[in-house]
Amino acid sequence: LVDSKIIPEEKRKNNLNLARPITFQEFIGQEKLKSSLRIAIDASIYRKEPLEHTLLYGQPGLGKTTLAFLIAKEMNTKCRIATAPAIERPRDIVGLLLGLKEGEVLFIDEIHRLNRLTEELLYSAMEDFRLDLTMGANRGARCRTINLPRFTLVGATTKLASISAPLRDRFGISQKIEFYTCDELKQIIDNFSRLISFNVDDEASSHLAKISRGTPRIALRLLRRVRDYAQVVKKTNVISVNLIKKALNSYQIDEKGLDYVDRQYLSFLNQNKNIPTGLDSIAAGLGDDSSMLEFVVEPYLIQIGFLTRTPRGRLLTALGKKYIDSKNDNF
Ligand code: ADP
Repeated sequence: LVDSKIIPEEKRKNNLNLARPITFQEFIGQEKLKSSLRIAIDASIYRKEPLEHTLLYGQPGLGKTTLAFLIAKEMNTKCRIATAPAIERPRDIVGLLLGLKEGEVLFIDEIHRLNRLTEELLYSAMEDFRLDLTMGANRGARCRTINLPRFTLVGATTKLASISAPLRDRFGISQKIEFYTCDELKQIIDNFSRLISFNVDDEASSHLAKISRGTPRIALRLLRRVRDYAQVVKKTNVISVNLIKKALNSYQIDEKGLDYVDRQYLSFLNQNKNIPTGLDSIAAGLGDDSSMLEFVVEPYLIQIGFLTRTPRGRLLTALGKKYIDSKNDNF
């Protein structure tokens, strides 16, 4: 178990997200990914070169942004953050690239959502640290080349398949971030509780870990909700399983960690006589965004064996049907 006290207090104060690990050692789990990144980082330091461009893919909340910060920290440099939907015009990406200093890390979240023009500008920037710009239009158009400092692009995506092959091929390193085990989530919960001086007993942190959908962001979010409830309603800093169940119940999260939206989703399929149903029909029926359902709701329902994806559509499993039949929610 990592002792948060090893991090000097003044460094923590500079860390806006208190829960965000600020050393590789504090980053729990993902051992294979960490050890291959470690080798690549050490080799780059040895050669005095920036780390190769790195693509991180996996579900939301698994630690992609955190890893980008850690890579920059290990490379003893800064990490600049951007998200692809905010890079609308070519001049946005040009501005970002020209603002980089030698060796810095540029993190682009949701990189599969870059538009074509921006993506094409990135090709030469990534490959040759050069920007090929066309100035003016039609017959007066001229090409201009600007040299860039050498940098590392860290791209993050939840949709690897949506990244075009030319962009994907320009990442020297490509790593998947997996869901976390209960033990790993328990460690994350224990470390964070200690950091905020909150006394969560062993059984309680195991219970929270079990309902956190393999995702640190969810574990930390649940812990914060439990803390609110404990401090405001129960006036205590000591957390037991019982208290967690009561707290989560007040947020309509049940013993499986399923919330209102999950149950609404399962109920919709159940009421639809559980015939295979396409994601878009479910999204339209529930009035929800289909990518939220696909990336936030469905992965966990599949993981706990309540849902299957078939070529003809989504289906409840017998386990999922039994669960939703036992609930009295009225949607
Ligand atoms: P993503 O970019 O994949 O959506 P983040 O990097 O923003 O995920 O992580 C979400 C939250 O979970 C952050 O508060 C982060 O500190 C925490 N977290 C993620 N991975 C880990 C880990 N391996 N160990 C400890 N905390 C983690």
